[in-house]
Amino acid sequence: MTPTSGCSRGSRSRRDTRIDLHAHSTASDGTDSPVGLVEAAAAAGLDVVAITDHDTTAGWAEAVAALPAGLRLIRGAEFSCLAPDGRDGSVSVHLLGYLFDPQSPAVTAEQTRLRNERRHRLRTMAERMAADGLPVDPDALLAGLPADSPAGRPHLAGALVAAGVVASVDEAFARFLATGGPYYVGRADTDVYTAVRMVGAAGGVPVLAHALAGRRGPVVEPAVIVELAAVGLGGLEVDHPDHDGAARDQLRVLAADLGLLVTGSSDYHGTNKTVRLGQETTAAQVCERIEATATGVAAVTG
Ligand code: AMP
Ligand code: FE
Ligand code: FE
Ligand code: ZN
Repeated sequence: MTPTSGCSRGSRSRRDTRIDLHAHSTASDGTDSPVGLVEAAAAAGLDVVAITDHDTTAGWAEAVAALPAGLRLIRGAEFSCLAPDGRDGSVSVHLLGYLFDPQSPAVTAEQTRLRNERRHRLRTMAERMAADGLPVDPDALLAGLPADSPAGRPHLAGALVAAGVVASVDEAFARFLATGGPYYVGRADTDVYTAVRMVGAAGGVPVLAHALAGRRGPVVEPAVIVELAAVGLGGLEVDHPDHDGAARDQLRVLAADLGLLVTGSSDYHGTNKTVRLGQETTAAQVCERIEATATGVAAVTG
C-alpha cells in the first residue's frame, strides 16, 4: 500500500513540498505528451503532479511508465459537466476526479460518450468556419487527433494559428471560439451531481475546478456549491490562475464552511496556455487527505 504521507515524502519538509494537481497532456488539449508532462513537472521542481486530461485516462499509463525518480503522480481527469447556475439557468463546470478506478463501467461509458460528443461538436464548429470561408479543414483537423481523443477548442485554435488566421491560441478564443462566440457550439456534458456521485462511487475524490473563473463565462452561485457538497463533493480548486483575489477569498470561506478541501493548481496546458507548472500549488496535508480518501487507484512515485 502507498503510505498516506506520500505527498510530503523525501528530504523536503511539508512546507516546501511543491504540489500541482491540475495539468493536461496531449491525451487531451495540452501540448506536452504524458512523458513530456512528467519530465516538465520534475524540471519545474515539483514533488507531486496530477495528470488531469479532459474526459480521458488515456495518458495515465505513459505518465506512470516515464515517472522521473522522486516525482509522485496523482492520476486524475477533468470531467466536462453541466450545472444549474442557481439563477434558473445552467452553466458549464469542470469536475476534477482524483485516483478513481479507470475501469469503473460508469466512468468509462460516460467518458466514451463525451469524447464522441466532443469530436462531433468540434467538427461542427470547424464546418461552420469553413462555410464562412475560413481556411479550416474539418476532416484534416479530426484526422490529426489521436483516435477516440477528447477534441477541444484548443485544437481548433491551433489549426487557426497554423493557418495564419490568428497569431495565438488566445486570439483564436477571443475572436472565434469563446463560449457564446460566433462559432461556438455547445455539448451535452455530464450532469454535475451525477459526475460527483460517479467519481465517488469509483473510489475517487471529486474536486470542483476553477468554479468562479468569471473570465471564462458565467459561473455558479455559491448555493450550487453547497448542494454539491451535500452529494459528496470533496474539495474546491481555490488557487487557480483564472481566479482573482475576491474569487479565492469567497471559495476559501465556502470550503471552510462546508468542510471541503482547498486545492491550488496551474491548469497547465503546455504552450496552449501561458501558465507555468507549479504556478499555483496545493498544501501537502490536502494532498495527503486526497490520497487517504481515495480507493480507486493509488498514487505512484517514480
Ligand atoms: P473545450 O474543452 O472545447 O470546451 O475548450 C475549453 C478549453 O479551452 C479548456 O481547456 C480551456 O483551458 C481552454 N481555454 C478556454 N479559454 C481559453 C483562452 N481564452 N485561451 C486559451 N485557452 C482557453
Ligand atoms: Fe483544456
Ligand atoms: Fe477546466
Ligand atoms: Zn483543466
